[in-house]
Amino acid sequence: MGIDLHTHSSASDGTDTPAALVEAAAAAGLDVVALTDHDTTEGWEQAAAAARRCGIALVPGIEITCERGGRSSHLLAYLPDPQDPSLAASLERSRTSRAGRLERMVAQLAADGIPVTYAEVLANVPPGATPGRPHIADALVASGVVAHRDEAFARWLHDSSPYYVPHVAPDPVEAVRLVRAAGGVAVLAHPFSAARSGSATDELVAELVSAGLDGLEAHHPDHDPAARARALALAARFGLLVTGSSDYHGTGKANRLGEQTTEPDVLAEIDRRAQGVSVVGRLPHSPGDGPSE
Ligand code: AMP
Ligand code: FE
Ligand code: FE
Ligand code: ZN
Repeated sequence: MGIDLHTHSSASDGTDTPAALVEAAAAAGLDVVALTDHDTTEGWEQAAAAARRCGIALVPGIEITCERGGRSSHLLAYLPDPQDPSLAASLERSRTSRAGRLERMVAQLAADGIPVTYAEVLANVPPGATPGRPHIADALVASGVVAHRDEAFARWLHDSSPYYVPHVAPDPVEAVRLVRAAGGVAVLAHPFSAARSGSATDELVAELVSAGLDGLEAHHPDHDPAARARALALAARFGLLVTGSSDYHGTGKANRLGEQTTEPDVLAEIDRRAQGVSVVGRLPHSPGDGPSE
């Protein structure tokens, strides 16, 4: 049974179209995949059509970038109502601010002699997609300045780089409230990934739990054993759901589909709690679910 609850398509910074991503998930033998593009629901419809064709289940989701005091965190929203006015307005604000922020980062890079233009960056952003730093990286790869996204991040695009510019993003407490009010289930993504400055604190998690946080993504490629253990301990302390996912980005990252997975009973609980939209297709049964035959 394969359930991967965190992937990105070309509707944000992944390289597969939403349809190709779902096809790849089916080919990889997954039973369920969640599409969780950054700050957008743009890919949902195409992914849903592909899921129906391929016979696997799709969990429509979003990965919402949040910010507090210069530290970012990522919140996974599962099955929220995309028409919820407050949630939609917040996502729209983030996306709009992301475009201007990339333009400022590119201007600062170019002023320092790094050969890149905003037009080259925009050429890598598909229509309707959420723009992000990986699109700057793609422009640098296209012009041969770096070999791959990873190198661009290591040299110039990482969170503590002098070229880093933040974008408008909701406070994580506000984001949890928005997701829950839109009928979604809120799971904090890769809370303790060492590679990021955005590693959460126990205090933040406690605050988010009070705001309605449902779960923690303990199993993630960016989590070393200590990070995973810390997430599992916090989840046990607060009675939170525990998820696992690949954070697949197509060829934009080494992460493989199904690299980390979520237990069927956790997905069943996410489905039970959600009141925004439904899962597309049928969920696989948990072991011990229903009458035995
Ligand atoms: P942004 O949303 O513009 O702040 O960019 C953050 C995104 O950059 C993350 O969601 C990752 O997909 C991507 N990213 C971060 N670090 C790396 C890296 N070292 N290599 C490739 N992609 C990265
Ligand atoms: Fe990403
Ligand atoms: Fe993330
Ligand atoms: Zn992600």
